[in-house]
Amino acid sequence: MKIANIDALEAFHKDKYSFCLYKFMPNLKTDVAVIGAGPAGSTTARVITEHGFDVILIEKDEFPGMTNVCAGGTLRSVIKEAGLSSDIIEKVTQAERHYFPWGENEIKVELITVYRHVFDRCLAEKAVEKGAKMLTKTQIRDVSVKNDGVQMFSGENTIDSKLVVFADGPNTLAYRRFGIGFKPELDKTFVSLTCEIQWENNPLNHCEFHYGNHIVPWGYGWVFPKRNTVNVGVGCIYSKLSSNLIDSMNYMLNNYPLTGEKFKDMKILQRSSALIPAAPAKRIFGERMLVVGDAAGMVDPVTGGGIMHAVNGGKLAGKICAMSLEAEDFSPKFLSQYQDMWHKTIDHQWIYNKFLASNVFLYLSRFDRNAYPKLAEVTREGIGKVLRHRKQ
Ligand SMILES: Cc1cc2nc3c(=O)[nH]c(=O)nc-3n(C[C@H](O)[C@H](O)[C@H](O)COP(=O)(O)OP(=O)(O)OC[C@H]3O[C@@H](n4cnc5c(N)ncnc54)[C@H](O)[C@@H]3O)c2cc1C
Repeated sequence: MKIANIDALEAFHKDKYSFCLYKFMPNLKTDVAVIGAGPAGSTTARVITEHGFDVILIEKDEFPGMTNVCAGGTLRSVIKEAGLSSDIIEKVTQAERHYFPWGENEIKVELITVYRHVFDRCLAEKAVEKGAKMLTKTQIRDVSVKNDGVQMFSGENTIDSKLVVFADGPNTLAYRRFGIGFKPELDKTFVSLTCEIQWENNPLNHCEFHYGNHIVPWGYGWVFPKRNTVNVGVGCIYSKLSSNLIDSMNYMLNNYPLTGEKFKDMKILQRSSALIPAAPAKRIFGERMLVVGDAAGMVDPVTGGGIMHAVNGGKLAGKICAMSLEAEDFSPKFLSQYQDMWHKTIDHQWIYNKFLASNVFLYLSRFDRNAYPKLAEVTREGIGKVLRHRKQ
């Protein structure tokens, strides 16, 4: 690790919970720079350090997860496999309730919910515990690739590395600067709104999914409970957004019979909005660079869920970085292994098959206003189960 000011670095490590290696170290050098300390970036950084290489994890916010917009639903295995304490679990829900225009369907399945400002921070701390250096309050504004390395620029810092990993979410610099990673297009991007509603010790023990044109034409409304709050949200593919999404949110909160009664007088603690990729990226590697997580379109294009895929993508990206550093080969040819290996994963196959299905149903939506709910039912339950269910 070649860092300009070692004293400052040691001071940083004495307090592993203060993410503050910055400002006074304008020129930094490392093996790998990871841009973005979400689930994808922190996992990538952790795996690289586990292989014995230097990594700097760069986050624009004061701490990871601080401004992340998410309902926070995932699988318990994600927490367990990342080595995080189950104390960070807000709620364990026992079922998904799907409210289709043609009726209700309950699927018994365990989900857990987390606050992203807690989950992301814990994941980043794991990477720091293993040896990653964390640079917070640093937004990378430009990246350039030279013959002997990569250079990143924020307002105050320059970071030189052998490799860069873009884990900077849907609006990734990788696409804007190099044309790789997730390309935001109107029919391949969800726009979403969420509200975190105060509800102390709420009794909800299931996650809800509400479908139909009265909510949004292509997407759904959701209710994901935590211990003392409930996340209510709506998401719709951009190209199908016929009215203001705020109207859909207000409908969920005030007038929709299945949720309005519950929420209309409750206190809203936070409102936020964000984009969700709805298509896998065509290319997720380049010279001296990899793209991972939302930045690579590693998101379920029907549900918009991406935490687990970001973590799994991060594990692979970290491994490939280590292989590239060991071989001292940073060429696109070598790094193309990352895409080949990702394409063989269950995550990618799941995402890709759902992407193909969503294209078919998107076409059918010209004739069928319930095309999205049908897509959601078919891809959640499988066509066989859906047909059996309909016959009953
Ligand atoms: C409303 C909504 C609800 C969702 N609900 C769920 C859910 O319940 N379950 C689920 O599995 N998924 C959900 N998702 C999707 C999930 O949030 C993402 O798939 C997941 O966060 C992807 O992780 P990531 O690490 O790739 O990106 P992100 O979590 O977006 O992390 C990117 C990080 O990079 C930082 N960053 C960005 N640009 C820069 C820069 N230039 N320099 C430095 N740092 C930068 C950001 O601050 C951020 O910390 C939801 C998404 C939305 C929008």
